Amino acid sequence: MDLTPSPREEAYRDEVRAWLEANVPEPYEGGHTIDDPGFVAYLRSWQKKLAEGGFLGITWPKEYGGQGLGPIEQSIFNEEAARVTAPSVIGHVGVALIGPTIAMVGTPEQKERFLSKLLYCEEIWAQGFSEPNAGSDLGSLACRAVRDGEDFIVNGQKTWTSYAQVSDWIFLLVRTDPDAHKYKGITCLLVDMKSPGVSVRPLRMMSGDSVFNEVFFSDVRVPVANVLGEINGGWTVAITALMHERMNLGGAIPVELSQLLAKVIDLARQRGLTDDPVVRQKLAQATLELEVFKRTSARAMSTVGKGQAPGPEGSILKLFWSNYNQCLVQTALEIAGPYGQQMAGNFGELVYQYLRSRGNSIEAGTNEVLKNTIANRVLGLPKSY
Ligand SMILES: Cc1cc2nc3c(=O)[nH]c(=O)nc-3n(C[C@H](O)[C@H](O)[C@H](O)COP(=O)(O)OP(=O)(O)OC[C@H]3O[C@@H](n4cnc5c(N)ncnc54)[C@H](O)[C@@H]3O)c2cc1C
Repeated sequence: MDLTPSPREEAYRDEVRAWLEANVPEPYEGGHTIDDPGFVAYLRSWQKKLAEGGFLGITWPKEYGGQGLGPIEQSIFNEEAARVTAPSVIGHVGVALIGPTIAMVGTPEQKERFLSKLLYCEEIWAQGFSEPNAGSDLGSLACRAVRDGEDFIVNGQKTWTSYAQVSDWIFLLVRTDPDAHKYKGITCLLVDMKSPGVSVRPLRMMSGDSVFNEVFFSDVRVPVANVLGEINGGWTVAITALMHERMNLGGAIPVELSQLLAKVIDLARQRGLTDDPVVRQKLAQATLELEVFKRTSARAMSTVGKGQAPGPEGSILKLFWSNYNQCLVQTALEIAGPYGQQMAGNFGELVYQYLRSRGNSIEAGTNEVLKNTIANRVLGLPKSY
């Protein structure tokens, strides 16, 4: 395989590099959490700028506000964004999983109404799947929607809903036919978070911030026009969204991991530990694994780039990412030594990342469930349950 970049790819890299150097904002000075309204405004403005510059939705079709380019251009952008430590995308739930799902199964009106606003961060989206008694076993969800003329009336609760407190819309899974088989009576609704009857209660994580929330629905009216896909056909829509979520880790995550690895190597230098054989081995292993991750992501993204739906292979990326991130921040804290106990100051962000990383092996599918998916749907082994 010849991996030498073509002149067109070189030119794209030059264009991206020049744009990023001119547009990446100075690092945010305040708290780096969703609880800081200034940080939210900073990230919103960055996402809008990225979309306006043509560097968000790089692989999305042009008619939905994307650039209609391929996974190679996306990888080039990721590498360059990592190089200049570009901020993250606050609307990533929308960009990574909800937008691509609306683009695949939405009506023309839904695509027109939602996709561009989602990309340009005029509207932030939350994913309303998990409930107190339905996480890995999502088919047990109980949030109920009953048809009333041209509306559904929704009652119930979601939990662990990331970014709900700053979201304008939620991609909601509800039970519309309680008598059908558990996977057959589910519908996907696109719900305006400002609808009367929606309330949000932030949950505090051990990292100290409130990334996720409980969301309650009390007699919330949702127009039937906001059903995504078929009524009672929401399970297929949910699986499509989850596959996009796992597959799209291939887009943003290599950027974040490259930045983190660079910081950890820098930290080892500052602490005078680059001669330490154990530290050297851990950093070399992390560098090697990151290269493997990048190549695997690029391969997965090229499947989607050919217009195919993302497959269960995305579970490999998700599993790899959660293990990698947890190991790397653990290594970082070992290198930091006693400074790794500081919740504020120079090492505060590192400690935050360590605490936040514990959720990686739960969010977007637990490690155990992903291993089952890989065994059964990638390797063709018998089901374990
Ligand atoms: C940081 C974070 C952000 C999140 N954001 C969102 C969000 O935005 N929207 C949303 O809808 N959800 C979100 N979630 C919820 C997440 O999807 C669920 O927590 C996850 O699916 C697991 O569900 P659960 O918590 O109910 O655990 P359970 O499903 O009850 O699992 C408990 C334990 O049992 C194991 N287990 C369960 N079933 C099996 C099985 N069949 N085989 C082997 N082991 C099994 C699990 O691996 C786990 O260790 C988020 C979670 C976290 C941590």
